[in-house]
Amino acid sequence: MSRSAHPAGPRHADVLPEGHYSAPPADLNVLDKKVWSETVTRDETGTLTVGGIPATRIAEEFGTPVYVMDETDFRARARAWRTAFGPDADVFYAGKAFLSRAVVRWLHEEGLNLDVCSGGELATALSAGMPADRIALHGNNKSPREIRRAIEAGVGRIVLDSFQEIVRVAHIARELGTRQKVQIRITVGVEAHTHEFIATAHEDQKFGIPLAGGQAAEAVRRALQLDSLELIGVHSHIGSQIFDMSGFEVAARRVVGLLKSIRDEHGVELPEIDLGGGLGIAYTSDDDPREPHEIAKALNEIVTRECEAARLRTPRISVEPGRAIVGPTAFTLYEVGTLKPLEGLRTYVSVDGGMSDNIRTALYDAEYSVSLVSRTSDAEPMLCRVVGKHCESGDIVVRDAFLPADLAPGDLLGVPATGAYCRSMASNYNHVPRPPVVAVRDGEARLIVRRETEEDLLRLDVG
Ligand SMILES: *Cc1c(COP(=O)(O)O)cnc(C)c1O
Repeated sequence: MSRSAHPAGPRHADVLPEGHYSAPPADLNVLDKKVWSETVTRDETGTLTVGGIPATRIAEEFGTPVYVMDETDFRARARAWRTAFGPDADVFYAGKAFLSRAVVRWLHEEGLNLDVCSGGELATALSAGMPADRIALHGNNKSPREIRRAIEAGVGRIVLDSFQEIVRVAHIARELGTRQKVQIRITVGVEAHTHEFIATAHEDQKFGIPLAGGQAAEAVRRALQLDSLELIGVHSHIGSQIFDMSGFEVAARRVVGLLKSIRDEHGVELPEIDLGGGLGIAYTSDDDPREPHEIAKALNEIVTRECEAARLRTPRISVEPGRAIVGPTAFTLYEVGTLKPLEGLRTYVSVDGGMSDNIRTALYDAEYSVSLVSRTSDAEPMLCRVVGKHCESGDIVVRDAFLPADLAPGDLLGVPATGAYCRSMASNYNHVPRPPVVAVRDGEARLIVRRETEEDLLRLDVG
């Protein structure tokens, strides 16, 4: 059983036993394929290499901390999702997990679409040449400017999140003289996370229009009446870091139920459904995520079966994986600064980053693993807590980890599976400039997001 809390926050967490960590791995030098990206291995000197480049060289050239992204792995995952769902479905990468212009180009080349949920994400997508009709705009409080910008750009769909937004988007589309393709985001009363899901009225949240009480049906009614909107489907996103498909099963059944009642009431069969993202990845060796082809097969079967039962044409499915594509593709490379051994407890290992480059441990009690990557070691395992440099005792990167007892200042540590929701949630806490992102492929390392500098910080501070 994982001791991690729900990504939605500590209030979702079980009460955690103190000091409940697993035994040390048999060999601390092994880099578990499950949590490291495709091209990661150790060279003959024992140094971790990615895309053929030693971690030590990346640290020298780009400094630490640094996010190191395995482009080969990213493209392979994107392609695996695309292939698994085939030409009759759409895969929208959720840009909020991590977005940069290089990533937008990779997605474009690999045939994926893109979800954005702010003007900034939209600007990034457009500036890197993603065709607007392959972009979807999300968000529970899109500003009129963001809506206008998206419609003017010609985005493929806007996902309507509230009754007010139906009117707001319709109004702006009419002003611009266009008919905007939209979906309506509904909450189906399913909350899924990790190893369980709750199927009873989890509609107490800010996103979407509840299916309960006929609200979603009313939203559809209103959208269908507005000439400047073309309602192409409904949307449901049930959670994050999900391993169990049963939550999707219940959600799909409820979504199809709505499509059926729309058909019965309006004589309209909506052509698309979007089942959202949220598929889990391996943060530690204990996690066993599903492969894209298994997910595609399961979702297709569920939707086909439910539609046959309801005598509906099977709609075109879209999915929105973020974490499952980018999460495993990157690791964070840190340098060890100070060590504080506490007899009988653990050793605190301080690295040169922390909660400013990975807030997930502090925010969600997320679990990560960590390895010594600049060399191998035959020393005994030592129980550690890897912490950052911030003025905050909750500044923890990896809560419980075993590292070799000869660990010393200057050693490099790698924390795998930090591609999603780390750089994208990074902050400047303590005025620490945010780390760069380096993409590695076939023996070449290149900067795709440069390191923030103190000058960048001072430039914003206009005195
Ligand atoms: C966050 C989000 C996603 C992506 O979630 P992941 O856990 O990264 O797969 C997809 N769709 C919507 C609507 C989201 O809010």
